[in-house]
Amino acid sequence: MRDNYLDPTVSAERRASSLLEQMTLKEKIGQLCQFVGLGPMEEGQRLAESNDDDSTAVYPDLRKADVLRMTERGEIGSFLSVQTQEEADTLQRAALRSRLSIPALIATDAIHGHAMLKSGATVFASPLTYSFSWDKNLACRIAQATARELRATGFQWTFSPNVDLALDARWGRCGETFGEDPLLAGELGAAMIEGYQDEGLNGESRVLACVKHFIAGGDPADGLNFSPMDVSDRSLQEFHFPPFKKAIDAGALTCMAAHNEINGVPCHGNEWLLRDKLRDDLGFGGLTVSDWNDVARLHSLHKVAESFDEANCIALRAGIDMYMHGPGYFESIEKQVLDGRIGGALVDEACWRILMCKFKIGLFEQPLALGNSETVVLCEAHRDLAYESARESIVLLKNENEILPLKKGSQRILVTGPCADDQSILGDWALTQERDLVTTVLDGIKNEAGSGCSVFHSSSGAIEKIDDEAIERVSRAAAKADIAIVAVGENGLRDSVSLRTCGENLDRSDIELPGRQLDLIKSIHATGAEVVLVLVGGRPLAIEWCADNIPAILFAGEPGMAGGKALGKILFGSVNPSGKLTMTFPRSAGHLKYPYHHRPSKFFRTYILSRHKALYPFGCGLSYTEFEYSSLTIPEEVEYGDSVSISLTVKNSGKLAGEEVVMVFVTDCYSSVTTPVKLLKRFERVLLQSGEALRLEFTLKFNELELLDENLDRVVEPGDFQVRIGYDDCLVETFRVLEAGAKLLG
Ligand code: BGC
Repeated sequence: MRDNYLDPTVSAERRASSLLEQMTLKEKIGQLCQFVGLGPMEEGQRLAESNDDDSTAVYPDLRKADVLRMTERGEIGSFLSVQTQEEADTLQRAALRSRLSIPALIATDAIHGHAMLKSGATVFASPLTYSFSWDKNLACRIAQATARELRATGFQWTFSPNVDLALDARWGRCGETFGEDPLLAGELGAAMIEGYQDEGLNGESRVLACVKHFIAGGDPADGLNFSPMDVSDRSLQEFHFPPFKKAIDAGALTCMAAHNEINGVPCHGNEWLLRDKLRDDLGFGGLTVSDWNDVARLHSLHKVAESFDEANCIALRAGIDMYMHGPGYFESIEKQVLDGRIGGALVDEACWRILMCKFKIGLFEQPLALGNSETVVLCEAHRDLAYESARESIVLLKNENEILPLKKGSQRILVTGPCADDQSILGDWALTQERDLVTTVLDGIKNEAGSGCSVFHSSSGAIEKIDDEAIERVSRAAAKADIAIVAVGENGLRDSVSLRTCGENLDRSDIELPGRQLDLIKSIHATGAEVVLVLVGGRPLAIEWCADNIPAILFAGEPGMAGGKALGKILFGSVNPSGKLTMTFPRSAGHLKYPYHHRPSKFFRTYILSRHKALYPFGCGLSYTEFEYSSLTIPEEVEYGDSVSISLTVKNSGKLAGEEVVMVFVTDCYSSVTTPVKLLKRFERVLLQSGEALRLEFTLKFNELELLDENLDRVVEPGDFQVRIGYDDCLVETFRVLEAGAKLLG
């Protein structure tokens, strides 16, 4: 007997099979089609004449009513870039009027909060920024809160987490990622997925997570988004696949393919990648969605298909289940199936996966907005969490002569710079929020300075608008100040279009401070005011001059709507900074491709006329207290196959309570192929009161010592390994993996 697909006690898989049996070919293909929401569609039409960039959606000849009719006929299975709850509701009601009442998946890029919602939502620190907290629990709670705001407004799918490894700071999307380390990216990605898809929430606030972008787009050859990637199997397996593996093991239900090609084959047409690797090797069982227009681009951009029809067949065969986005795909696939060029089984398979995901998150039971969005969106608990995301993440890079924390006494403090009094602190994939909801850097300083201080602001103008006049004006103000807090950097905010310098498709050929920001800093410095630099933005910048000359530097990143609050508290000492970098700060664009996990020969020869060491290395970040590490204990010898126990003591030897991130790296000392100089294996964020010591224990599984040999087989080679504690290798001990037994496992 056929299962009742409306019965929630039946498994999602069986409900999907049962529903599939009742669907016509047209209805099945409809599920594969995704369109942008009505708002962006109309916007696209308005912009169509002035803009031939395909990053806006242009659906010629389609009007709102047409899209609603198509939805009612079951020809559209999902919508993205939906901007409001009303729009989500209208689209969903249309889908529910279809013959089988199959609800649509309403999707958005809620990557650090539901921040693309037009009416406003909680904006957390952006992913790169909160990765500086190294706090999986924080990541999970951000995802849960985001999921609640999504479901409360009628959305059920977020295109997050982005576990691309950010290996080149010129790439505008670094801020969306968790940085350069595969273990950390995987663990934070997995924590997000647990938060978004949380089973414990009775399905009420569960949304589909989407792990993206498969694969290797974060290491573009020239820093440019879309750049063709020539990437070895070794790099894929050592670095790019592991975060996806973690995300899939955490249950990621959807996955997005990457814009780029790898080794001559675009990811969207790459059967080896999307089937052999993603499904067979990594065990992904969910739905794969294309990225924006990337199926059509197999024809229009990559030129691997002679026509749009051929592109569609290639992508479906390769393993793309859902087409993002727009008209044409539906008719094209129907024609290809009816003409026998592709098998209906491919459509069935893709449709089944989409339905299965819809059932998994309880979409049939709860298709519309859940509860009262006003009590969920921007609620106090979420705004407190936004503050926590900033507080744990801001990184103190330099603090000469302990100029920070600032004293609350009678000082004259100038606050200036293009990021001091605007919403650049929100980052990409966020829209400008109501003024009162955001604590800017200036607000945060004013709130914390105390009545004895006089805080005054001098506007420098926006990043690329700083001119001689502004520099003179601000410097005159600085001459009257004891301290100048200068907030510089970049702006990724989605809707501040003409002011943006970072974010998606905002790649740069250099990574200096854009515009005349450095001139501004130098001129303020020359007045004799003590300068505190606050760096804002979604990627590391080459701030070598500042590192050499400015006494105190904080990397705020994109700390979100409570960023200024956290900064103010850190500057004046009521919060002790605890963020640690997850992406290396290079000295210049010439020093890029400098992850901490490079191979041993990388710096055998160094640059002439410049230093080669990272400006600020992966893992670094100062505190107002001191941490001491001691008593690292590891076994001297490890039998082949045994796990490795590591223990160490960390003590807060300073005067203030503080949080530290304990990092454990491993080096394979000698091996048949080259291996990274060290690789992160474990980390833990700990809170220690002044004088408190903690003994920490970690256990590495034997296979965490493995490498890929010459044939790319996974083996652990006997010999010496080093355990290194801290980003700066403050403790190092060696153990030996014994030969005996190697053959048994090898
Ligand atoms: C981005 C994706 C995003 C999609 C939908 C694309 O341009 O690459 O990461 O999810 O747009 O907004």
